[in-house]
Amino acid sequence: MATIKPIEGRSVHQIQSGQVIVDLNSVVKELVENSLDAHATSIEIRFKNNGLDSIEVQDNGSGIGPDDFESLALKHHTSKLSSYADLGKLNTFGFRGEALSSLCALSTFYVTTARECDKPKGTKLEFEISGKVKSKSVVAGQKGTTVTVENIFKNLPVRRKELERNIKREYQKVLNLLNAYACISTDVRFIVSNSPTKGKKNVVFSTQGNASTRENIANVFSAKALSSLLALDLKFDLNPSTLPSQSARTWSTQNDVVSREIQLVGHISRPVVGEGRQAPDRQMFFVNSRPCALPQLAKAINEAYRAYNFTQSPFIFANLIMDTNSYDVNVSPDKRTILLHDQTALLEALKTNLTELFEAHDQSVPQSQLL
Ligand code: ADP
Ligand code: MG
Repeated sequence: MATIKPIEGRSVHQIQSGQVIVDLNSVVKELVENSLDAHATSIEIRFKNNGLDSIEVQDNGSGIGPDDFESLALKHHTSKLSSYADLGKLNTFGFRGEALSSLCALSTFYVTTARECDKPKGTKLEFEISGKVKSKSVVAGQKGTTVTVENIFKNLPVRRKELERNIKREYQKVLNLLNAYACISTDVRFIVSNSPTKGKKNVVFSTQGNASTRENIANVFSAKALSSLLALDLKFDLNPSTLPSQSARTWSTQNDVVSREIQLVGHISRPVVGEGRQAPDRQMFFVNSRPCALPQLAKAINEAYRAYNFTQSPFIFANLIMDTNSYDVNVSPDKRTILLHDQTALLEALKTNLTELFEAHDQSVPQSQLL
């Protein structure tokens, strides 16, 4: 008797979904990015019981039209990418068409949505585990989309237990991530709240739809945080003629010549010995305004900083602006790991530049020259 058999379709779907939505962070990240991709100017994130009971993300973005309801939560259905060739030109956060489909398989999941032309009527959609629409009902609705995720990992008992056990830490990680989105997203209002299973909601933080990242940082971290911030605006030209021969390789993607000019913009707290401690979680990194983990860059900045101040880690808000062909976001399912093709050369140039910046703004700098 044959023993090698296909896994039943529903089980495959659940196994694969567990690789896209791995934790609370990935749920929130995917939903907030969908709202940003839909050009929302206001995003409200509501947690119940730190996200264990429910996570709800409400936006005032484009909304979803009836023609897209059936495919909304189907696997690999996306409005953002239709072929591999588009990948290099991508300017949206999402492109895999996997998040909503995975959430259907892992939670009690529903969506309420209305476009400008549909309001004051909206549609509430419920889904089967497979992502097919189970029910549609007409509800009152403003332009935008609300996605509700209840009881996440309800059918992966081991992961659910793990989440319950570590919920404080997991919830804190989510808040750190939301801080990053709220600080980088100019002209978008963020409101984050949490409520107990039964009881009133608490606003955790909010931003005002500010035009600058400085104002966003003031909203999220306090106005006082601003007084110690230096503006970062460094430019690196990593083109071959400006580099030592060892790192002077040229490369191209799909026959396009890739620019190797990189800009680092943002804010860093100036090195002042003995003044106010900054926790390491106040370090945020972005590539073209996409929040991501850049441990090597973090290490380089922290090392340059420590040359001046051994006791503290700085507040860092660092956004690398670079050619979209010079890095690859398609490395990990959560797209937080980014492969920078020019990393070694960049880090060398960065350390030199930062040292110069810190020297110029050493402790003796008068307040008037600070931001
Ligand atoms: P992806 O973002 O990779 O396309 P998702 O599963 O996250 O995949 O979303 C599937 C599709 O659903 C998106 O391509 C988009 O068209 C639509 N969508 C999801 N969330 C929203 C939202 N908040 N507002 C408008 N459209 C949305
Ligand atoms: Mg998405």
